[in-house]
Amino acid sequence: MAQEHTNQDAERELRAAFYEDIKAGKLSIAGAVATMRRISRLTPGDFARHRGIDVDTLEQIELAEALSAHICEVCGHPGRVLVHGSAMTRCLDHAPAGSIMQEDFLAQGKVPGIAP
Ligand SMILES: [Zn+2]
Repeated sequence: MAQEHTNQDAERELRAAFYEDIKAGKLSIAGAVATMRRISRLTPGDFARHRGIDVDTLEQIELAEALSAHICEVCGHPGRVLVHGSAMTRCLDHAPAGSIMQEDFLAQGKVPGIAP
């Protein structure tokens, strides 16, 4: 019984941290999916079945999400996640004037979606 309470408290803390990270814009879609899987204690296969997709599709979604943080959304060259009003992945040639790297933006305690 005590173990059950400990697990419930840990899950409650994970869920609270998850919602705080979403609110602060700190989680990517892939990060949110991985956290939801950890909270629900579902394997990737169980999670995919729960969401009505196959495991290959889930892996492709997570791979595309991970790659999107490194490919300029304008030209396809290598890029970084920047914030300029909202988050975007851009190379040096397509970075808007005044944009800053997402990690610097988050380090300032700011939330993506709100102009720097
Ligand atoms: Zn570019």
